[in-house]
Amino acid sequence: MADQVTFDTLSDQTTGGKNLAALYCPRPGCRCLLLKPNVAQLTTPADEPIAELTNIPTQLLAGCNLTTQPDNSTYFWKVTNMLDFENLGFLKTVAETGVKYLSCPDCDLAPLGFHNTHSQLPQPTYFLAADRVRYQFA
Ligand SMILES: [Zn+2]
Repeated sequence: MADQVTFDTLSDQTTGGKNLAALYCPRPGCRCLLLKPNVAQLTTPADEPIAELTNIPTQLLAGCNLTTQPDNSTYFWKVTNMLDFENLGFLKTVAETGVKYLSCPDCDLAPLGFHNTHSQLPQPTYFLAADRVRYQFA
């Protein structure tokens, strides 16, 4: 799926720029709901600084179900209030970069996105990779 995600196909999945579908953990068999519809904004790399989902310290990945480095993800669902998530987990903060990678709290699959604790953005911002979630339309 990763190489088929484009801004156009994702834009079809938005209403007013917000997610039309509920966003779930992508792991087959995991039913963890991450975001309800209409809470996250689709964003592109041009909009704001994006942390790489590659070069993740291997000691962080060791505790997860993901053992290989993911491709970098181009499109993200942006959430500015952590309370907008239905469920959310974090890997340990990377000391050098201040990045916290998002994980599934039920099955520990990670990284699903990131939160930069050193961000210059005016409010705490959470980015969920658009190609690392499962979409379910009502
Ligand atoms: Zn999961």
